Amino acid sequence: MYASGDTIAAISTAYGEGAIAIVRVSGPEAASVLAKVFRPKHGTGPDRALRYGYAVSADGTPIDEVLAVFMKGPATYTGEDLCEIQCHGGTQSARRILAACHDAGCRYAEPGEFTKLAFLNGRLDLAEAESVIDLIEAGSSRAHEEALRKLSGSLSGEIRALREVLADELVLLAVNMDYPDEDIEIATLERLREALLPVRDRVERLVRSADEGRIVRDGISCAIVGRPNVGKSSLLNAFLREDRAIVTDIPGTTRDTIEEAVSVDGILVRFTDTAGMRETADPIERIGVERSRGALALSDLALFVLDASSPVTEEDRELAALLDPRKTLILLNKCDRETVLDEETAREAFPALSGGAFPAEGEGAEQDGKRWNSNVFRVSAKTGGGIDAVRKAITEAVLGGRVSPGEGLVITSLRQKESLERALSLLSDAIGGTEAGEALDVVETDVRAAWEALGEIVGETASEDIVDRVFERFCLGK
Ligand code: GDP
Repeated sequence: MYASGDTIAAISTAYGEGAIAIVRVSGPEAASVLAKVFRPKHGTGPDRALRYGYAVSADGTPIDEVLAVFMKGPATYTGEDLCEIQCHGGTQSARRILAACHDAGCRYAEPGEFTKLAFLNGRLDLAEAESVIDLIEAGSSRAHEEALRKLSGSLSGEIRALREVLADELVLLAVNMDYPDEDIEIATLERLREALLPVRDRVERLVRSADEGRIVRDGISCAIVGRPNVGKSSLLNAFLREDRAIVTDIPGTTRDTIEEAVSVDGILVRFTDTAGMRETADPIERIGVERSRGALALSDLALFVLDASSPVTEEDRELAALLDPRKTLILLNKCDRETVLDEETAREAFPALSGGAFPAEGEGAEQDGKRWNSNVFRVSAKTGGGIDAVRKAITEAVLGGRVSPGEGLVITSLRQKESLERALSLLSDAIGGTEAGEALDVVETDVRAAWEALGEIVGETASEDIVDRVFERFCLGK
């Protein structure tokens, strides 16, 4: 059991006005701290019972009416004795109770320190601890689901099982290395290869899932581009179904890029409304144009907006040249009006952008030709017509069926991805070694290093530095 000997305290709820705030205390002195800052109305109660009373400062001045609970370790979040005091929300009560805890002998907790204690005391492994941050930061239902799944140990279980296979092989290698004999060596290398192949396959699949993981956790970015006045801001609003972007009749008023997020099928889609992307002499607008180019470069997808009520202009063509056909949807807006542009004319005007190149990976287009027949959509920001079809196309285009809700584990942490990539390359080296008939000790070095790389994910072989980096991302009081 890890013990720093300190008793720590922090406010665990978000700062600001709210119904309740919680002050959390963990450590060997938790019980005595609670005894000093809490006056129960009805005497003492059993462990884990929520008691009603008053929080008081060191001189006995009442701070707030509270509920308090004491939980005896080690079966607590941190593994230590823990107490929580629930007071009224707002900025004052919790702060004053925290100060009272400090006066009673606590030190202020560092960000993520409660969860770090949970890790150090074996209540959570490192991958599970990281999923706590993902859970808190989840911006969509899918991200939330994935985090919860990892918190319950699904990834950790998988990594442990893979490490166990490697550990068994390492034992065997160690035994055989002590008895040098060519026949044993060949048999061992063959056996090792058979054991490593499925491990490598699984690690490879996890590495590949990291692309989806990024989408699950951070959502996808979608730039809305088009010359001034085609209806970009209006479309953004139609997607949001709220009037957030400013809509005017003066060309070039969307000077800066505006980013808004919506959840589509549980996936966060972040729309960027770019300023008119034409060359301009206006210095303020220029900045907007530069940003638009930047936004376009960073986006997963672009919605190229045309005004269907007027012919294609030179400016439309110039913009089209900036777009990546593999990630562009063409929107013919203002279809509530009399139109001069239809799907056919748009395709003719922008042959490079329309047609079979979509979706990006190509596979979907062949398998499901009908659905991917076209990346041109008739819409009206004014009436909302066609918007739902575009929403659907956005997620399907980027996800391409790769992120299937509720199926398979996906890697959402860059740190975990790096360790997996290292393990993958070491496993490939080791397998290559077994095929080339390398000496056992050479292969053993790679297998051991792969076992350690996987161990970093769950924290079993992680350096202090790695552990610190994980907990730096946490907020105070978690
Ligand atoms: P932006 O410069 O591309 O962002 O264009 P805005 O969204 O500011 O729209 C320019 C003008 O076109 C505004 O007067 C909008 O009301 C109008 N507009 C936008 N979308 C539509 C649409 O679908 N139908 C019609 N009739 N007018 C639209």
